[in-house]
Amino acid sequence: MADLKQLLNKLSQLKILLASDVTQQMLDGIDENSLLQKIIEMKSRAASETPESADPKKELEFIGSADILKMAKEIATEKVPMPVEVSRSQGFRPEAAEIEERFSVSEKEITAVASIDDFTKHFNNRLSRIKKILDKRQGIKFLNALEEIDKNRYLSGREIAVVGIVSKKIATKNGNIMVELEDSTGTAKVIFMNKQAHSHKNNIFDDAARIVNDEVIGIKGKLSHPFIIANEIIWPEPVIKTAKKFEEDFSVAFLSDIHTGSKLFMEKNFLHMLKWMQGKVGENSNVAGKIKYIVIAGDVADGIGIYPNQDKDLQVLDIYQQYSMLFNMLDAVPDYIHVFVMPGNHDATQRAEPQPPFDASIIKDFKKSNIHIVQNPSFISLNGLDVLAYHGTSLDSVIASIPGLAYSQPETAMIELLKRRHLSPIYGGNIILPSPKDNLVIDRTPDILHMGHIHTNGLANYKGVWVVNSGTWQSKTEFQTKQGHMPTPCKMPVFNSKTNKFTIVNFS
Ligand code: FE
Ligand code: ZN
Repeated sequence: MADLKQLLNKLSQLKILLASDVTQQMLDGIDENSLLQKIIEMKSRAASETPESADPKKELEFIGSADILKMAKEIATEKVPMPVEVSRSQGFRPEAAEIEERFSVSEKEITAVASIDDFTKHFNNRLSRIKKILDKRQGIKFLNALEEIDKNRYLSGREIAVVGIVSKKIATKNGNIMVELEDSTGTAKVIFMNKQAHSHKNNIFDDAARIVNDEVIGIKGKLSHPFIIANEIIWPEPVIKTAKKFEEDFSVAFLSDIHTGSKLFMEKNFLHMLKWMQGKVGENSNVAGKIKYIVIAGDVADGIGIYPNQDKDLQVLDIYQQYSMLFNMLDAVPDYIHVFVMPGNHDATQRAEPQPPFDASIIKDFKKSNIHIVQNPSFISLNGLDVLAYHGTSLDSVIASIPGLAYSQPETAMIELLKRRHLSPIYGGNIILPSPKDNLVIDRTPDILHMGHIHTNGLANYKGVWVVNSGTWQSKTEFQTKQGHMPTPCKMPVFNSKTNKFTIVNFS
């Protein structure tokens, strides 16, 4: 329980003050350590969001009652701890063993090299597929092509709706935002008026700040040659989805960022989790026994030469050994559980996305009928449950580009990707291979969007789609400490088909 006096003391050491409207009554029932952690997180988030020129000491001097209430709420929803206690494996009868597996994995054609021609095709393909989604919007008739503005000699003052790929975004001298949209027939210059100049309605200017390069958006606005004065941005986001009803009662466990071979891989915890799955530990054999599938979203091994001086952090310097370590562990997964393993940016396969599955040199003679080596990303259907799994390398550029996003809440960045119908919209943010078909477009809305990469757990439901980040099994690296990141290792999200809910099983 948090004590006001003690809290004031501890915070003052951190140069943080509590506003006078915070009372002891508000703190009753809140775990002090969790609250402190939240406040520090908030402070580091605020610091990371302000430009470097700002004085970090000046950030967030006061924590008010509103902040405390918000944090208390977050703490309450996060805490679904599942204590795992060691006990005998008596009478473990996994229900999932009785369920017949029915799964399919999408297979995309993956290119290893691209030509200039492919580049143009790639972006045209992105545009036309996302435009198709926007065209289904009720009550909006988008122009078929940007050239129609001139061809039809539309007059200024006319209301129009257009779709294009963002090729440029700049701040104008008058403090407005100008975005250039492009398609294969032409361009359109769209102006987003600054709030002061345009005070009457919505926050179009704030919305425009969220536009990123190379994404496909729809714009409604008034023609004012040669510009379009925007009054609405239409993102291709999913329409509200109602939860599927499942006949079978099964669960899916989500993992990512195991980083075998790293000194910081939390092997004991991982092995403990595997034992738990075998029903050998814990009171939660009812949770464990329902697990029918495991999806692993990349960075399964730590790799070698991924960042400068990585060898200092490695326990296993041989790349093949890092993978045999992984496969040895996966060998312990009960046969009735099907496991899908994909690579991430640390893994030994082509770095550019989409990434092909591991090849024979990595897999060697490891063969098990329940372990499936797949591409990154993969659209996986599991007894009717659609999971779109992607490592999440693009989250770095998304968090850096869209205001208000932070590493402590990866789910918010994931939602931005879902809204844009693209797993990696910002070209150049990470390595993408521009194939003639853009394989990173999200044209099918999944039931669950799963990513890793950030090493921090996150969970949200956006318009009926579950968005989950499965964190990591690696403890905090020196690099992350310097960056002010807060990994949440060994917390495994498990989704159940009957309850349509996640349980976070804590192995930390
Ligand atoms: Fe990772
Ligand atoms: Zn990663």
